[in-house]
Amino acid sequence: MSDVLVGGIHRRDGYSFQLVNIECMPQSDHYNVIMALEEPIDDLLPYLAAVLPACTYVHGTGVINLMEEGHIVGIYGDRITITDVTGLDDAQEWCERYVARIEDVRRRKDSIQPVERRQVSLTVLEIYRRLPQTNCGACGDATCMAFAARVFRREVPFTSCPEIRPEDPEISRFVNQLAAQGFPAGS
Ligand code: SF4
Repeated sequence: MSDVLVGGIHRRDGYSFQLVNIECMPQSDHYNVIMALEEPIDDLLPYLAAVLPACTYVHGTGVINLMEEGHIVGIYGDRITITDVTGLDDAQEWCERYVARIEDVRRRKDSIQPVERRQVSLTVLEIYRRLPQTNCGACGDATCMAFAARVFRREVPFTSCPEIRPEDPEISRFVNQLAAQGFPAGS
């Protein structure tokens, strides 16, 4: 799977961003955002990890992962990636939200206790990561993330995605893990 740049690079004060979608679905109206930061924030990651709700961070990995309102967010020293935005305005809003958070943490840094490690349950993310992530729509959902959220809410079995390969040992283990946790089984 590779990304396709949509609409060029948008420059703003302190950062720029690009919308990308996936090659196999170029007409999709869902995009991922790659936001490039002009000023690196490597030193702020342990502080951001301390204040961001429900994030995962291990010092030394150089990335904070979290899920917010159904979007998967990755915060790196030089960029932020955000999945499933609906267009330019939505992307801009998300970028500004993270610019404000970075500025807030930078301002309050001396009063924040940095963290070395933080781990939360990322069940929707774990489901999403085992899906093909092609947003093909064959399951009836517009995106794999929307489907993962429905699996998480136990509305549909994970195996109702027609694109997964049940014979894959990792998928097979994951299906058993879901069953052990009481998720609905497929037909
Ligand atoms: S059918 Fe599977 S791969 Fe296609 S959008 Fe749904 S979850 Fe994603």
